[in-house]
Amino acid sequence: MSHPDVLTGRALIGGDRVTANATFEVLDPSTGSPLADVARCGAEEVDRAVAEARAAVPAWADTAPAERSRALRRVADRITAHHDELAQLESRDTGKPLAQARADATVAARYFEFYADTLQACHGDVIPTEPERLAYTLREPYGVTAHITPWNYPLQVTGRTVAPALAAGNCCVLKPAEEAPLNALRIGELALDAGLPAGTLNIVPGLGEEGGAALAAHPGIDHLSFTGSAEVGRRVAKSAADHVVPVTLELGGKSPNLVFGDADLEAAVPAIVRSILQNAGQTCSAGSRLLVHRDRHDEVVEAVLERFRAVRIGPGPEDPDLGPVISARQRERVRGYLEAGRREATLRHGGGLPDENGGFYVEPTLFDDVPPHASIAREEVFGPVLAVASFEDDDEAVALANDSDYGLIAALWTRDVGRAHRLARRLDVGQVFVNTYGAGGGAELPFGGVKGSGYGREKGFEALLGYQRTKTVAMQL
Ligand code: NAD
Repeated sequence: MSHPDVLTGRALIGGDRVTANATFEVLDPSTGSPLADVARCGAEEVDRAVAEARAAVPAWADTAPAERSRALRRVADRITAHHDELAQLESRDTGKPLAQARADATVAARYFEFYADTLQACHGDVIPTEPERLAYTLREPYGVTAHITPWNYPLQVTGRTVAPALAAGNCCVLKPAEEAPLNALRIGELALDAGLPAGTLNIVPGLGEEGGAALAAHPGIDHLSFTGSAEVGRRVAKSAADHVVPVTLELGGKSPNLVFGDADLEAAVPAIVRSILQNAGQTCSAGSRLLVHRDRHDEVVEAVLERFRAVRIGPGPEDPDLGPVISARQRERVRGYLEAGRREATLRHGGGLPDENGGFYVEPTLFDDVPPHASIAREEVFGPVLAVASFEDDDEAVALANDSDYGLIAALWTRDVGRAHRLARRLDVGQVFVNTYGAGGGAELPFGGVKGSGYGREKGFEALLGYQRTKTVAMQL
């Protein structure tokens, strides 16, 4: 029996708010107490959602681009009108500081705006072959796109993945993460209120191994976009392969900040700190490795430590510098890395798990002299834990940066423009930042990984093209 303050979250299937046979409990990470009781969709609800999406495809795919564009812009406007409410809910659901949740609400609207604009510039080509032949390409939607998303940026990732898919003319079924499903549901409701036709955007909250697995394996989907861990990504890609369904995998990272001898530390240090403390380090593109030229090592580490010492920890809605991690389970995972780090490297700050009001807190933590083979240098901790090492020259910096199973993003801090361009080409990552740290960058910038960080690109015009397939028509005149 749920407490009266506990929110309820119903699935959104074919334009209806739907209860499931069971519910699951969502906890408030800042206190550990129940926040919501949410519909636990399984194979049956996923089946219905895929059928509703399928039924909605012909009309939505045939909607004139200008009309589809207006519909998406109305969704953006609705998200903007509910900005504060969405930010508050995001902060409660994920534990992230309110200011960060506000930024996420802005970005969610921005995705709908960006794809509302760009979809109208999406067209096929006429291909010259012979005078008596007309050949051209049509860009067509896949049909039903499935989206499985993580808990760390529900607002941003929901916007990022469904806006281009809808813009391209697909109808979507999205399974949000069980730890923080509330804002995906809210965006689905706002989209309906904004007039998006029933069935174009269906949201089926549920557990990964139930609803998530059922969606990934469903024979009725035509495309799968997965954002989450490498382990689950491999699994869902195998399921999709059974039905020859194309997959986009946005997985984790172990992204480095590289600080060279000529770096502007006034710009670099705040960005380095933000890149690991934002969302308590639970960001796929977190700057979890700090590689510093030997000559500047002590100065950089001291400046980072000074900021770590000043960090205010607290519940997300109170807008501290650092909120809790998402769950007790995640905190236990981080605890394991803190213990490993103590064996593998030198603990310079943090390492504690403060127990305030039952929330899942982790202190900002810095390990120094971390060897390249250490688990905290190689594995994604997903907590506010920074691994520092130093390098002698550019070649060693690149070798250390690339010595990773992941390849999501990297940042170069240098005043030498030539070095920045040379090294950007040599880094095995999907995005390189120079004298800034994008944490994924804007809606306009293609984003995705290489190696264990996945394949395919979200964001930018490229994501829109990725949600369409090309048909070639050749005609003898
Ligand atoms: P996760 O892989 O545990 O879960 C992601 C989603 O997959 C959730 O919705 C979950 O319910 C679902 N899922 C779990 N098991 C499943 C199964 N057997 N079949 C189908 N679906 C299943 O990841 P997480 O813990 O929610 O998120 C953290 C991970 O996500 C980190 O590795 C992070 O780096 C990554 N991430 C990547 C990006 C990116 O854009 N590259 C963005 C955000 C998060």
